[in-house]
Amino acid sequence: MLPFPAFAFVDLETTGTRAEADRITEIGIVRVDCASPSSPPAVTEWATLVDPQVPIPPAIQALTGITDAMVAGAPTFSTIAPRVASMLDGCIFIAHNARFDYGFLKHAYARLERSFSARVLCTVRLSRRLDPDAQGHGLDALIARHGLDTSDRHRALGDARAIWAFVQRLYRDRPRDEIDAAVRRILKMPSLPPQLPPDAIDALPETPGVYLFYGDNSLPLYIGKSVDLRQRVAAHFSQDWKSETDLRLSREIRRIEHERTAGELGALLRESELIKSRMPAHNRALRRKADAGVMEIAEGVPRFVAAAGIDEARLPDSYGPFSSKTAMRAALRKLATGHRLCTRRLGLERGGDGPCFARQLRRCDGWCVGEESAASHHARLEAALAPLAIPRWPLAGIGLLRERSADGERVDVHAFRNWSWLGTARDDGELARLCETPPRAQFDLDVTRLLLRRHAAAALPLVAAPRAAIDSAP
Ligand SMILES: [Zn+2]
Repeated sequence: MLPFPAFAFVDLETTGTRAEADRITEIGIVRVDCASPSSPPAVTEWATLVDPQVPIPPAIQALTGITDAMVAGAPTFSTIAPRVASMLDGCIFIAHNARFDYGFLKHAYARLERSFSARVLCTVRLSRRLDPDAQGHGLDALIARHGLDTSDRHRALGDARAIWAFVQRLYRDRPRDEIDAAVRRILKMPSLPPQLPPDAIDALPETPGVYLFYGDNSLPLYIGKSVDLRQRVAAHFSQDWKSETDLRLSREIRRIEHERTAGELGALLRESELIKSRMPAHNRALRRKADAGVMEIAEGVPRFVAAAGIDEARLPDSYGPFSSKTAMRAALRKLATGHRLCTRRLGLERGGDGPCFARQLRRCDGWCVGEESAASHHARLEAALAPLAIPRWPLAGIGLLRERSADGERVDVHAFRNWSWLGTARDDGELARLCETPPRAQFDLDVTRLLLRRHAAAALPLVAAPRAAIDSAP
């Protein structure tokens, strides 16, 4: 049965479809309590007509069979509100088109100045997820398709029983794992590794930052970043899109630590710094970053400069960045074809003399056979490479970028020079130290790419240091 200790199938009849304006005329609840997986669930049914205190439109009376006369002596919602709350207490709220029923209840409680909330599972979404190709997911379609025994359609208890019958039928006809996975996905409920505390996800903020997964010792297993820490960490443990890394992490993780940052850029920078210094066992990003680099042209010949060997000052005269030497060569090959450049001169062919492979296909203007001068080839190469050129750094020295959190409580000031990161300051003292004695710049492919992208979109509001302090930066 559903992977919860208690759940309730709920159906409402109403005077219309607008939760703010229309009123409830009937409530039906089928509550299911599962004391243990081995014992049969305890099922409690409850239904009542509700006096909406407004007339019911004739069309609705015809559809539901609930007339003004029937609800005339019924209790109002305020009378039954405590009973409804206790029936639903601790339950997953399950309804067909759940947003409708849940919305009506929320508004009905709000009119009493009481709040109502529950985790909601919609059986329309469940049906769609399990039978994406089926025709129709309305209650009548489900009843017909699954051959459900029902009575009292369009009455609250009758419809609540029908969706309870639908769920029971699912568990009779399909593998439990398949249904559980669909339910979890709909509830966005991660199946947490059992060794983590149950509130491990809820304890995380829904803000940008970095997270660190630990196993049994003080070395992190994995470090990641997100603009929404809670959602990202939960995604690691959601059942359906588990990667091999996530499976390993699920087995080894014992605790989660996190650090908030003001924004996305701060999270990216902090992740990069932490991965370099803590060397987590399962981060492939580490190797990926080491593989990255840029291209320089030395005496007319392109060469790859890996991340560790990049001289910050030369970065603005380089091309790229590229995620690897292989990626750089692929880009060069494409340029060679498009611009009739010599693949031997570009270092894309191993050794040998005579016409390059491109020349043999009549796709090289002939540096390799002496028909084009080195100077001419160089000039054409530079022209071809122009779109890949890393632009000049727009400031004379250090540029500061201020990032403020959505709630305004947190400000990070990031310092950059030549498209490289120098550090991040969180107060004026830190900022002054950072600007007075800037550390060696750290080349990080992702950071440089992000800066260049924002620069190209004119969305990089850098301020020259040291003029700007935290409070005066724009
Ligand atoms: Zn050639």
